[in-house]
Amino acid sequence: MILSGKVIADQIQEEVRATIKTLASPPGLAVILVGNNPSSQTYVTMKRKACANVGIQSFFHHLPETTSKDELLKLIAELNQDKRVDGILVQSPLPAHIESETVIEAIDPQKDVDGFHPINAGKLLLGIKGGFIPCTPLGIQVLLERYQIPIEGKHAVIVGRSSIVGKPLAALLMQNAPYCNATVTVVHSKTPDLTIYTRQADLLIAALGSPGFIKEEMVKEGAVVIDVGISRVGDKDAPHGYRLVGDVDFNRVEKKCSAITPVPKGVGPMTVAMLLQNTLLSHQRRFF
Ligand code: NDP
Repeated sequence: MILSGKVIADQIQEEVRATIKTLASPPGLAVILVGNNPSSQTYVTMKRKACANVGIQSFFHHLPETTSKDELLKLIAELNQDKRVDGILVQSPLPAHIESETVIEAIDPQKDVDGFHPINAGKLLLGIKGGFIPCTPLGIQVLLERYQIPIEGKHAVIVGRSSIVGKPLAALLMQNAPYCNATVTVVHSKTPDLTIYTRQADLLIAALGSPGFIKEEMVKEGAVVIDVGISRVGDKDAPHGYRLVGDVDFNRVEKKCSAITPVPKGVGPMTVAMLLQNTLLSHQRRFF
């Protein structure tokens, strides 16, 4: 079975739009892009389009590559105070001269709809309600839930331990809470022979950023496979000279597993849908 993130994300966008129609004022999302990284520009455009589609006001701040850390922190301080802004998103990666931890910590945790602030990361780890869960892990959980794929009691193996995907996903799936309660293993680049672990996975999540890394022999028969990876590979026949591929060798793994997400139209649209949902949640927390 193909788990279509696009189909579920469209449903969620519809739900978010319907709720926003009932509100007295629209939720607002500030989007900050520093520099001209082409992938970042594409992501920011997608997110702003999605905001417009559901009725979230987006405030776009495109800053030059040469922006100093202090200039960026000053803008964030203003947005923290801005009553129209429910969420603040700083698109990564930032230029090398700006330390991303300092920037994330400057965002008001109540407007941190990406869920990257240490306060929100801590709440997720401790199972404290009222924070924000990062969009990609949350999108994966919601996708599984909407397809009624059980997580409880399953062995989830996550390949990758980044702060935006692997770590928060491990924290989320191991929660003692509905649609969680997995037994979680996290493997990374220093794990020797990681096939030993991936072959045990009922739920295998690939989030390492290495095209086609997960081969058929690394997957247990009947496993559920979630492909988070998005890499551009050159393809002169494709419209822009490249195509997007995931971390899973899709054509072969698809035959062996029971369910799999495609790339594109898998986890990516879910991530965007969760950003909209978190922005709406932030607005609702402020007003209700
Ligand atoms: P990072 O580069 O921050 O982290 C990659 C992780 O994978 C690290 O923990 C690294 O290990 C591990 N890793 C790398 N190579 C190997 C290997 N050969 N074997 C085992 N582990 C390995 O990436 P992100 O988490 O930010 O992103 C991962 C991928 O997901 C990228 O393709 C990115 O574009 C995509 N992505 C997609 C999103 C979506 O919405 N679909 C959202 C966010 C990311 P170590 O820690 O030891 O270095």
